[in-house]
Amino acid sequence: MSAQKPCRRCLLSEMNDASKMDMVKKWIEDLPKSDRADEKVYEERLSICRLCDNLLSGTCLSCGCYVEIRAAIKKGRCPEKKW
Ligand code: SF4
Repeated sequence: MSAQKPCRRCLLSEMNDASKMDMVKKWIEDLPKSDRADEKVYEERLSICRLCDNLLSGTCLSCGCYVEIRAAIKKGRCPEKKW
């Protein structure tokens, strides 16, 4: 069993970690629709995260959240005010 290397610029969806991504997907699916960011906003937020030095293996080093969860929440905010 080999440990996965940390990846700068990777979202969980781009990494080979099905169990974490399944957990994130389920978390997002369980969010009430009224609390969920729309798809365009979600993708725009993640495109900013992809270029951010605080992204490491899908986690924001500034707040410790999985960015795919933070970006999916309508009222979610970037801790560095990038989105
Ligand atoms: S600081 Fe903001 S833009 Fe950067 S990874 Fe965290 S949430 Fe994304």
